[in-house]
Amino acid sequence: MTSPGIKSFSAQIEDLRKQKLLATLKKYFGHSEFRSPTQYEAIAAVMARTNDVFVSMPTGSGKSLVFQLPTLVSDDRAVTIVVCPLLALIKDQISHLHKINVRAESINSKMGEKDRKRVLADLSCKKPDTRFLYVTPEQCATATFNDLLRKLVKYGKLNYFVIDEAHCVSQWGHDFRPDYLKLGRLKELTGGVPWIALTATACTKVVDDIKKQINLESGLKTFKLPCFRSNLFYDIRFRDCLDEPYEDLKDFIVNSLGDGWEENRNHKSPAGIIYCRTKDGTEEIASQLRKHGVTCQAYHAGLKDKERNQAQEEWMNGKTAIISATIAFGMGVDKASVRCVVHWSAPQNVAAYYQESGRAGRDGKPSNCRIYYSRQERNTVTFLL
Ligand code: ADP
Ligand code: MG
Repeated sequence: MTSPGIKSFSAQIEDLRKQKLLATLKKYFGHSEFRSPTQYEAIAAVMARTNDVFVSMPTGSGKSLVFQLPTLVSDDRAVTIVVCPLLALIKDQISHLHKINVRAESINSKMGEKDRKRVLADLSCKKPDTRFLYVTPEQCATATFNDLLRKLVKYGKLNYFVIDEAHCVSQWGHDFRPDYLKLGRLKELTGGVPWIALTATACTKVVDDIKKQINLESGLKTFKLPCFRSNLFYDIRFRDCLDEPYEDLKDFIVNSLGDGWEENRNHKSPAGIIYCRTKDGTEEIASQLRKHGVTCQAYHAGLKDKERNQAQEEWMNGKTAIISATIAFGMGVDKASVRCVVHWSAPQNVAAYYQESGRAGRDGKPSNCRIYYSRQERNTVTFLL
């Protein structure tokens, strides 16, 4: 029996483990605590390596840390493979890791032969420098990748196999990607290496489908946070009832960004996104806002790659605060200080709206989401009624 006040041996071990994780959290990411008890519990389960782990937590709740921290804590220099739906998302995640001096790589169809050789050469070392290898589901289906995976497993160099944005597996989800379905086949190649699936989706039907489609173990451990985000404030304006809709939009933006938003701008400065249905819509908003004294960049598929990347880059680094964009914008964008997300046209459905508006307030600070509803677009918003 343990005396009161004296911790049991296992509690002491648990404390030590937590201290080590916190030290690594601070060292690499600069954070002093976990975002939530659930974030910590999921990380501890991943570290235990006894089960596959399923994480369903809202956008911005810090799901990446669930596999990044355990990978960085382990000293054995094994590689964690992360499947991600989009190259833009991959690029973004890799650049985040590079900023904290962690080697992360990708193999994909867009890279040159020389680059691919460089990445594969490191992965074939006894102790690779690469800690994270990001791939698209399409890449996972290739012979090169299967070969690589087999070798990593054979030589004990695969740390974890991660499926990010796992709702893409399900046809019931809003971003179904057929290539995600094939991922289940890789399960038998990875032996006892733990799989980690992460999604912001809480819908039970989708979650059950994901588990089934990618053959997650029956002993799967699941970690879930409610999808309610208390720092987001939602409202709807009836555009047709406004005398000056653009004036109203400008006021909303300026209020959301807060005092002093124009000063000393950098990547952490307050920012906003205005989603429009069409390319012309994005240009119109940008020009109207400029007339009202707020700089706004348009972002859409009609721009040249260079212009589009520049628009994104300038918004990411804070040079421009506001971007007016079609829904193509955002999937790969992780910016913590988004203070407002506007839908100038109605979103396509509730799931998409949750995802898009969810780009606001990832740092946990109060943020505003607004739809400017227009009667003419009534048909596209029947879901709201
Ligand atoms: P998700 O994938 O769940 O949408 P991310 O992993 O991209 O979320 O993290 C969202 C933001 O939260 C990032 O800016 C990240 O740095 C931050 N974050 C994650 N964990 C913590 C933590 N423990 N303390 C502070 N910030 C955190
Ligand atoms: Mg994420």
